[in-house]
Amino acid sequence: MRDACGVFGVYAPGIEVSQLIFDGLFALQHRGQESAGMAVSDDEEIFVSKDMGLVTSAFDARKLAALQGSLGIGHVRYSTQGESTWQNAQPVYRANGRAGFALGHNGNLTNVAALEVEEGMLAGVMTSDSDLIAELVAKEFDGDEDAPSDALETALVKVLPRLEGAFSLALLDAQHVIGVRDPNGYRPLCLGRLEGTDGGFVIASESPALDIVGASFVREIQPGEMVVIDGDGVRSSFPFPEVRVESHLCIFEFVYFARPDSRLFGKEVHAARRRMGAQLAAESPVEADLVMGVPDSGVPAAEGFAERSGIPFGHGLVKNRYIGRTFIAPTVQARLDAVRRKFNPLPESIAGKRLVVVDDSIVRGPTASQLVRMLREAGAAEVHLRISSPPFAWPCFYGIDTPDRGELLAAQVPVEEIAAYLGADSVAYLSLDGLHRAIGVERGFCSACLTGEYPTPVTLREKVPSRT
Ligand code: 5GP
Ligand code: SF4
Ligand code: MG
Repeated sequence: MRDACGVFGVYAPGIEVSQLIFDGLFALQHRGQESAGMAVSDDEEIFVSKDMGLVTSAFDARKLAALQGSLGIGHVRYSTQGESTWQNAQPVYRANGRAGFALGHNGNLTNVAALEVEEGMLAGVMTSDSDLIAELVAKEFDGDEDAPSDALETALVKVLPRLEGAFSLALLDAQHVIGVRDPNGYRPLCLGRLEGTDGGFVIASESPALDIVGASFVREIQPGEMVVIDGDGVRSSFPFPEVRVESHLCIFEFVYFARPDSRLFGKEVHAARRRMGAQLAAESPVEADLVMGVPDSGVPAAEGFAERSGIPFGHGLVKNRYIGRTFIAPTVQARLDAVRRKFNPLPESIAGKRLVVVDDSIVRGPTASQLVRMLREAGAAEVHLRISSPPFAWPCFYGIDTPDRGELLAAQVPVEEIAAYLGADSVAYLSLDGLHRAIGVERGFCSACLTGEYPTPVTLREKVPSRT
């Protein structure tokens, strides 16, 4: 299971941008903890630096000082099993002749195999789909000394329409920062204006990265849009003439992935999560003494559930702030152990009480099953699970590497039997309609992992070597 990655880009005449990119990536750290990297241009040359681990361990003051220039991009990548290599860290850099470019990718292509065949490559030679995009762009990119200044844009216009699946991209050549969103807009990407500068602009996966670097939100980059930022300002175009452009923003950005302080479709994510909890209380009420959230992602919906139901809200679990993500532990036992390491109950808050325990999602199930056991051991009288999204029963091919159907609890156990399976007194999920209503936007989402209806063709069980 992988999260979406995060991308960032900044064009800031007269300002050294490496610290801004650091701050932007730090704000996007939740989208990827495996590796962090940036590419900075001083108008002539591109410098790239990337390393494994968190933003704070990949960069220090010395490295940032060495990255001189007033435009650049950055990337944080999520961890995977076995593929946690420096080679897969981004941005990817490619040169052609004298000039080069760098690329950071959030998403997952669904036509890697077909592209490899078209290009006459051996299947699976590219270590990642992001590498493949860079390779295709490099082939079209004119890096000669007398090449026109829009050479990268020209190459992108040729390559982008051939890509299928999810891609929010940040690109850099010596003089331009470019942002691209795929025609379905699976992954978010927004544009900001850097306050106090003359013509400074920022692109970022999520709006909090704008807030933190002192940029004001201008707008979301549209599905199928390319924005080019340079000394002439921001230029927008739509380089997918033959392709159907229709928003399919990942609904899980609202449910889980995005920061609560993000704004998507003009809605604050935290407030939407509270409304999901309220809607859940209306759809699946239960008599209880205390409503608690599974930290951190379940807490806003728990607040909303408590408010709507009138049942007091409280904290029943302490989460260790220093633990890594528990998703990628290799075995079932390791995942269960990880849940114990991550959460510890507060017996004085929960003993003898009928609990409503709210979480955003159940994927494989170890979090829920282990928490039910721990809460009962701590004295809970009843445990009612309330999940603020519909059953997650289909794999994602658009950037969240969810397991095969065989590993997804809701694909394996009928919903009516899930409570018994998890040892809970009851389990209820939010309806898809209810989720839309809570967000306040009815259309424009991908919800394939909840419905099995994929907006663009996928091959179920397709194994793609590496995703971002
Ligand atoms: P499970 O234990 O059922 O496999 O996972 C459910 C828990 O993981 C929930 O608490 C949810 O907040 C969290 N979660 C949902 N999707 C993702 C994801 O893509 N990555 C990570 N790291 N956690 C997730
Ligand atoms: Fe998001 Fe699910 Fe669609 Fe993947 S399948 S992009 S997780 S809504
Ligand atoms: Mg969680």
